[in-house]
Amino acid sequence: KILNPIARSQVTQDLSENVILTTVDDLHNWARLSSLWPMLYGTACCFIEFAALIGSRFDFDRFGLVPRSSPRQADLIITAGTITMKMAPALVRLYEEMPEPKYVIAMGACTITGGMFSSDSTTAVRGVDKLIPVDVYIPGCPPRPEAIFDAIIKLRKKVANESIQERGTVQRQTNRYYSTTH
Ligand code: SF4
Repeated sequence: KILNPIARSQVTQDLSENVILTTVDDLHNWARLSSLWPMLYGTACCFIEFAALIGSRFDFDRFGLVPRSSPRQADLIITAGTITMKMAPALVRLYEEMPEPKYVIAMGACTITGGMFSSDSTTAVRGVDKLIPVDVYIPGCPPRPEAIFDAIIKLRKKVANESIQERGTVQRQTNRYYSTTH
């Protein structure tokens, strides 16, 4: 039935008052950014600061962040601490076991560059992004819990602007052979 202009404007007004219009991307992203589940992963002293987030003082859960012990239940990994060559294949395997879409936050100087081990160590990985793709970096030694929150907020902004289609086509490369090719 074709409505006259007055009736059509009435319908438009009724719709805007009673129907929330959004896109599938916005709805999907809103749900995801409100329920990022990080995997518990700490290899050195940075993890002490991460662990502080889980307590009541910082109240990590208010962002919908629920720490998980299994990679299959997590969509975020915060690499807190030094990554050694021996640990590298295990980290890549854990990352690969996480379901898509998934994210990585690199926390602290050691995980970002090798930190104090970057100049002459033969056992530390000089940058976790040589192994797995990193979404947000948190510099510091160690970064404070507030800095981790800042990284989470940055990640949420990134998730909010993603398209489901694009995310599905992006190749997220890993390198489980870093320790043998470095
Ligand atoms: Fe420890 Fe500092 Fe390295 Fe973090 S960046 S793992 S606090 S030495």
